[in-house]
Amino acid sequence: MENKNVLKRYNLPEKVIFCKKCTISNQRPRINFDSDGVCSACRFAEHKKKINWKKREDELLQLCDKHRKNDGSYDVIVPFSGGKDSSMVAHQLKNKYGMNPLTVTWQPHIYTDIGLKNYHNCIRIGGLDNLAFAPNGKVNALLTKLAFLHLGDPFQPFIYGVYNYPLKVSLQYKVPLIMYGEHGEVEYGGDMEKAYRSTRTVEDQNKYYFSGLPPEFWIKHGISEKDMMPYKSPKDSDIIVNKTEIHFFSYYKFWDPQENYYYCVENTGFFPNPERSEGTYSKYASLDDKLDGFHYYLSYIKFGISRTTSDSAHEIRDEKITKEEGVALVKKYDGEFPSKNFNTFLEYIEISESQFWEVIDSWRSDHIWKKNNGEWQLKHPIWENNDL
Ligand SMILES: [Zn+2]
Repeated sequence: MENKNVLKRYNLPEKVIFCKKCTISNQRPRINFDSDGVCSACRFAEHKKKINWKKREDELLQLCDKHRKNDGSYDVIVPFSGGKDSSMVAHQLKNKYGMNPLTVTWQPHIYTDIGLKNYHNCIRIGGLDNLAFAPNGKVNALLTKLAFLHLGDPFQPFIYGVYNYPLKVSLQYKVPLIMYGEHGEVEYGGDMEKAYRSTRTVEDQNKYYFSGLPPEFWIKHGISEKDMMPYKSPKDSDIIVNKTEIHFFSYYKFWDPQENYYYCVENTGFFPNPERSEGTYSKYASLDDKLDGFHYYLSYIKFGISRTTSDSAHEIRDEKITKEEGVALVKKYDGEFPSKNFNTFLEYIEISESQFWEVIDSWRSDHIWKKNNGEWQLKHPIWENNDL
């Protein structure tokens, strides 16, 4: 299988450099490092500490007042997984800010037991209305396979759904306000151009989240127009008529994943995983989908950075752990293979184990990987970095 040329596809710098403050490297697509060698997410974390959060909350109150309806109809759409972040956002909008949210779920490929339990608990114990959609399972499996083969990310179809389905519901229910949780580009590092505002446009969505490949791309690969419909966004002209606005809760309220977790344990019946998720040390993030681990594993193969890097970098910025602790965690857990659900994944996308590894190896780049005694190793692991 031909090498995918990750450097060119993601426009990555060839020299691997780590942030002076956290565990992220310059291989995360779109991240920036300043002249002091500090990443844009760390700089944003510093900026967050200086924000007048009282003023931001006033902005949120104004936004709520603008959209609040008093006739019993829904006034805000919350894209919702039942995880700690979206549960906190929906629960607070309803109970603290007096909104009438409709939570909207694009269902995972295959629910984990804990994911399904948290999803039901948040609706029942958290007291929220929910609208859930599951796409045609055969089409979804085929698209997931195509995305794995061509894009090296089995999560692409899910990502289309998560971003485009709420837009459709916004039109169907005539609710212009959509409230997401965190602004991933900002919190985890990415294009900072839009960091200092609360909203996102539909073009941003196509640019940042769909890797430049809109759902229409897959029609060339044998998916019919009709089968692609659930993944597509509504027409721009309809979005404009509906005056749909996409906002981030993390703009209005200090965003701290660990605090979201505590909030949900208390208010929405949230349970952490009884054991840590493979590939990281955390027990409370990204728990819903049995195929999650493969999204993160592919990121490890392409960029040399995976879940532990993202989790630890965020916790270093939030001053929950030190950089030294972060590096030790990365060394221990980052890139751990998601073996528990390996067979489930192979069966779901109907490929053999040898095909799987062929695809994986086609995403390895020389600037990240080397072979040592027949085993793949990172060329520049953070724990061997002399600048620490
Ligand atoms: Zn950093």
